[in-house]
Formats: sequence, structure tokens, C-alpha cells
Amino acid sequence: MATQASKSKKKSPRSAGRKPEYMITYLCPHCGFDSGRTELDVPPVCFYCDAKTGLVEIKREKLSAEVMANRMKLVTDRMMDNLRKAWGISEKEWPQDPEQEMLLLETMAKGKKFQDEIEEMGEKMKRREKEKGKKEGRDPLLCRHLPRHQAL
Ligand SMILES: [Zn+2]
Repeated sequence: MATQASKSKKKSPRSAGRKPEYMITYLCPHCGFDSGRTELDVPPVCFYCDAKTGLVEIKREKLSAEVMANRMKLVTDRMMDNLRKAWGISEKEWPQDPEQEMLLLETMAKGKKFQDEIEEMGEKMKRREKEKGKKEGRDPLLCRHLPRHQAL
């Protein structure tokens, strides 16, 4: 059997420019998860619930390949598990190649977020429709986005 062709190592655009010195672990009071950030991530954002406030620094480590690798492993393991379940993918369907795994994770993370946003938007629209039917009034939110003559 032929071995898989080695893939070219791409530098992530993030690594360009300033170099972070520390890996800071923040605990999020909103969801209870911890996020690894660097001192360049200002303000730190919770990896899990996107909270930007109240994050508590619980650990600060000098950034090294090892620190980074440990963090990545923790995060990807967690993320993989959550996403895999959310998307109904079984463990044996999961790619074995680490690069493909990362790619899938990134795609799914974006997809899930997008899905949530769409869902939320749909809920808002439904609520709006309901209210419209109830009082036949105009939605003030909608009017705000339209030029006055059009809204009237
Ligand atoms: Zn959070």
C-alpha cells in the first residue's frame, strides 16, 4: 500500500507579525470552561461561549512548543468530542490524519456557529411574524433599516 503523500506545511496567517510570549489560561465564569490565549489576545474571548467579559486568568506559562502542544491537544480533544457528537459522526468515521482532522474541526466549528446564527435568526423572524400578525403593526427594527419614505 502506498503511503500518503506528505502535505506541504502551511504557515497559519496568525503566526505572521507579532510573536506571543505567554500562554494564558482563562477560566470563563459563564460556561465554566477554560480557554488558552496569548497576551496578544486582547480582550481574551472564551473559546467555548464567546464571552468577552469576566474571564479569569488561572495560569500563565511561557510559551513553548510543549506548552502549545499540550494546549492544542486538550482543546482539540474536547472540541473534537463535542463537535463529533453534535454532528453525529462516529469515532471510526473520524479522519486519522492530523491535518485532515484539524481541517474538519475548523470547518465544523465554523459550520456549527453559522448554523446557530441561522437558527437564531429564524427564531427572531418567526417571533417577528407572530407579532406582526397580532397587531398588524410595523416592526420598529425593520423600519430602522429602511429609508423613511419606504417604511411609511
Ligand atoms: Zn465561556
